[in-house]
Amino acid sequence: MTRADLIVTDIADLATMASGPVPRVGAAMRELGRLSRAAVAVDQGRFVFVGSEARCRKEVRLRTDGVRWSAGGGSVVPGFVDPHTHALFAGDRSAELDLKIAGASYVEIAGRGGGLFQTVRATRGASAVELLRAAEARLVRMGALGTTTCEVKSGYALTPAGEVRLLGLVKGLARRTGLRLVPTFLGAHAVPLEFTDRADDYIDALIRQALPTIARRRLAEFCDVFCEPGFFSVAQSERLLRAAQAVGLGLKIHADEFVRSGGAALAARLGCRSADHLLESSPNDRELLAKAGVTAVLLPLTPLASFASRSSPGRAMVDAGVPVAVGTDLSPNSWVESMPLVLAHSVYSARLTPAEALTAATVNAAHAIGVSAEAGQVAVGRPADFAVFDVPSAERIPYQFGLAPVRVYRRGIRFPPAEPVAT
Ligand code: ZN
Repeated sequence: MTRADLIVTDIADLATMASGPVPRVGAAMRELGRLSRAAVAVDQGRFVFVGSEARCRKEVRLRTDGVRWSAGGGSVVPGFVDPHTHALFAGDRSAELDLKIAGASYVEIAGRGGGLFQTVRATRGASAVELLRAAEARLVRMGALGTTTCEVKSGYALTPAGEVRLLGLVKGLARRTGLRLVPTFLGAHAVPLEFTDRADDYIDALIRQALPTIARRRLAEFCDVFCEPGFFSVAQSERLLRAAQAVGLGLKIHADEFVRSGGAALAARLGCRSADHLLESSPNDRELLAKAGVTAVLLPLTPLASFASRSSPGRAMVDAGVPVAVGTDLSPNSWVESMPLVLAHSVYSARLTPAEALTAATVNAAHAIGVSAEAGQVAVGRPADFAVFDVPSAERIPYQFGLAPVRVYRRGIRFPPAEPVAT
């Protein structure tokens, strides 16, 4: 008899995501590993049973202080994995909306010293406590919407020491929120104003002054770079990524968002874990990504937040055999905290099917940030991270815009905790 401290019964549709390869490509992206009339049992934070209700009744015994809860005929999915966020920043840019509505682009606003540079000024001026409090509030809201694993990029200090300082906050943020956070070094988010027209010097500074500390203190899992004209060239991006690879970091790249920058091709050449955005990528780029097995991380709400006419090329990527993941791109430019809203836009903007969207937000997203052994699937032995939705099938989650879960569990404990997390 298996003992459990939590049993959730009466699950009409359980999308385990536990069958099939990781990452999933093509038709395999529609395989949800689903069970109907299911139950799950958890003990000490990990699943100890996943299967039919009838078997659960026979095989699992609740501990005396355990909790049994009925999902009421709802659906259960793995806790969402958000593989692309800029969640660590100070301030906001709501005042820019009027400029954006009048037609100013992200690049134009940044070119006037606003946009990203405004956030850099606010972030440099903020104390560690201020940064932690702001990011914690965002992450708790994200967790309440079903995100239990989240990537967090640096990128709003734009000095070697400042970027190291930001990355140094992520472990504390994970402790405070209880969420699984994966830090990414994005010192090359933009060329800081102090280095205008000297992007190569700035890349040198990151390589010499930031990377060794980040590697020694294990402050990041990945290195990312913003590869676009006016930001970093393909050659500069390659130089930084190769240096990051040499000190043991995984590689990511902001690629082909505004123009076809060559970022996707570089990602394929270097074997990056992911290439992100990809709004302007070509059929040839998709072929290269598919061949190299680079995951395309699509951020379907970012073009909307930028008033861009393009949509994320979800359908084209899946059809080309590229593993696809989706994320929020939470930043002051596209302040998206809701993975359920991302799921809806993955369907209605990027033309993934609901099943593909669910795969993109769980098992493939976990692969995109290197945590597929721990996140993105409901299976015995794995951390009990899951969300319960009051709909009879998991495919209804992307169908209904921004549907909120009725319950979220992180390591078998309800999230957010009833008591505020100690600070
Ligand atoms: Zn981004």
